Amino acid sequence: MSTSALSSQLIPTLEKHFGYTSFRKNQREIIETILAGQDTLVLMPTGGGKSLCYQIPAILLEGLTVVVSPLISLMKDQVDALRLNGIKAAYLNSSLKPEEQQQVFHQLRQQELKLLYLAPERLIDAENRFVIFLKSINTSLLAIDEAHCISQWGHDFRPEYRMLADIRKALNNVPTVALTATADPLTQQDILDKLQLREPNVFVSSFNRENIYYRVAPKRQSYAQLLDFLTERRDQSGIIYVLSRASTEDLADRLTQDGFMAKPYHAKLSNEVKETHQDEFLKDEVPIIVATVAFGMGIDKSNVRFVVHMDLPKNIEGYYQETGRAGRDGLPSDALLFYSYADVIKLQGFVEVEGNDEQSRVLREKLQQMAIYADLRTCRRKFLLNYFGEEAPDYCGDCDVCRNDYKTFDGTIIAQKALSAVARLGERFGGGYVIDFLRGSKSEKIWQEHKQLKTYGAGADISKKDWHRYLNDLLRLNYLQKSDDKFPTLQLTEQSWSVLKGQEKVMLVEISEPPTITIKSSAKPIEDSLFQQLKLLRRRLAQDEDVPAYLIFSDATLQELATYLPTQPEDLPHISGFGEVKINKYGSAFLDEINQYCTENDLDSRMSQLRRRSRKKQRSKPKSDTKQQTYDYYQQGKTIAEIAQVRGLSTTTISSHLAHFVQDGSLDVTELVDSATITKIENTIYVHGDRALKPLKDALDDNITYDEIRLVIAHLRR
Ligand code: ADP
Ligand code: ZN
Repeated sequence: MSTSALSSQLIPTLEKHFGYTSFRKNQREIIETILAGQDTLVLMPTGGGKSLCYQIPAILLEGLTVVVSPLISLMKDQVDALRLNGIKAAYLNSSLKPEEQQQVFHQLRQQELKLLYLAPERLIDAENRFVIFLKSINTSLLAIDEAHCISQWGHDFRPEYRMLADIRKALNNVPTVALTATADPLTQQDILDKLQLREPNVFVSSFNRENIYYRVAPKRQSYAQLLDFLTERRDQSGIIYVLSRASTEDLADRLTQDGFMAKPYHAKLSNEVKETHQDEFLKDEVPIIVATVAFGMGIDKSNVRFVVHMDLPKNIEGYYQETGRAGRDGLPSDALLFYSYADVIKLQGFVEVEGNDEQSRVLREKLQQMAIYADLRTCRRKFLLNYFGEEAPDYCGDCDVCRNDYKTFDGTIIAQKALSAVARLGERFGGGYVIDFLRGSKSEKIWQEHKQLKTYGAGADISKKDWHRYLNDLLRLNYLQKSDDKFPTLQLTEQSWSVLKGQEKVMLVEISEPPTITIKSSAKPIEDSLFQQLKLLRRRLAQDEDVPAYLIFSDATLQELATYLPTQPEDLPHISGFGEVKINKYGSAFLDEINQYCTENDLDSRMSQLRRRSRKKQRSKPKSDTKQQTYDYYQQGKTIAEIAQVRGLSTTTISSHLAHFVQDGSLDVTELVDSATITKIENTIYVHGDRALKPLKDALDDNITYDEIRLVIAHLRR
């Protein structure tokens, strides 16, 4: 079949086999490239939707797609998920019994399978027998998951991955797609080199995880704060990371005593216990797992609603990967970190690699970045994305800093004092010494000669603690930097000089106690008790099939059901996640449950709303232009002022964008303007017409804005 003929089948295949109606960003382009037979590298964050990128080509291409993955524990899950959607797939790894393996070989010979998942070591045997076998059965695509494992620069190097280049050759350079969630450019280049991909197309997605809300709370009474946090999230699934093995068990016990079912997980538990706990968590039998970082690599559970770090992680890479396990299903999820500076000090010992100064230096620097993140007074998402080399707006609206509105003040004089102290001390001392010096400490510690310097005691009016905060701000704003020694000293940067010369103003954050957490919990479906009933139904079905509940349907699907209340079979294809096979298999069970609920509660189906919404979505999709971006932000719940700030545009521009969507019916004007104002504007328009805004504005009360007038005109024009 030609590529364009295949192209026209993408959406129907997506709908039929996965029950989704549209592709996520980059998916379509990636799939088209793969179908055209080109080598491809895909960089997408965890939860971004990498699997579909090779699963859809696997369905559409003739022959077999071989998927190499190091995560044996995930293979069964992935294969089960495919089978539940009616796609023929199997896996081969050390967990299978010989007769099960024979069965798979038989299916392969009969050409019954579309996808085969393999551990890399499976490809390697003395006489290359397995590769020869693969050659004999028409392999059309090789997908290499977790491709960073081939690179020594990655955090997870696997020597067996090095064989993959040879295997590609042995398979006559079969088209190959490599996929990873590691963004680091060094690793990226290494993957291309080591796999010897031919003229590869590289797709880098944004690493932004829009649905994760990032926040940091002070590590004071963290247990009590944790209980509050969990109480708001009863029955939701989450992972709590702690530093030590012992605390996984302690904390799990304590939570259980306090009425939250939680199980521990760490490397030293017996395999049996580990498997049971993991399994109970995956199957939604136990909502909370308390774990060390040993937990999670092989976890694909889509409905993890929160990830809590009780202790500071050692680097941003780890933190981002761990928090990324929340919200793979795209629903709002939380990442909460408890932070105290004492953790940084404690971890300093952990990041020293004996006999390797160079690596110790790298790891120390990474820990510093983690501490800076925890202390941020600017948007956390921006910091994370910048850390991974991605641009981001100053304000995301979805982290604790953005929602807290920290007040800043002109701190130029404070900054000048600090910078000049660092300069006069010859950039040879750490923060503690600089602060003592600034405060004019009488202690022995301060060298006699330094007491003669001009800035000595210039900052006596500011407390030690506040000086720490200001110095941190200056570091963050790049007016100061730290040397990367074991005992880092403060140094000036290029930017420091314009401050010292009085050419640049420095805005510092006003000092106040960080607020303890009081954040609303994640978005809820409209019929919460139905949602709970549907979860039970899903769990029963999952038990019957012995698969994790989220493989039957994701939470996102159950939320749609409990919001739009489909009552007839024709409704189901409109619900995300209901593909053909699942409609046949589970449709009636869910419809029965919903119908019964609607009868008992005297409710009508709200499917017409969903249909209207998806029609709008389709109609407005081609506008991937500036208006669409505004609309997307608006749909995320941002106000006009916030959107203007994020996009760096005026509120007038933003409201004219929204007016466009009011006019085409995608937005209801009553969402934007209150009804009394609408009536007033409408009445004035009847008198003056809608040709010019000025006469309308003049005829109306002063407090009615041009933006509001524009929106109501759009509404009437519709
Ligand atoms: P990754 O491998 O990148 O971590 P997955 O492939 O596991 O991510 O996808 C994460 C979740 O997103 C899965 O539940 C998947 O079914 C869902 N998903 C992927 N693509 C789409 C899409 N186009 N529409 C809706 N859901 C999708
Ligand atoms: Zn933010």
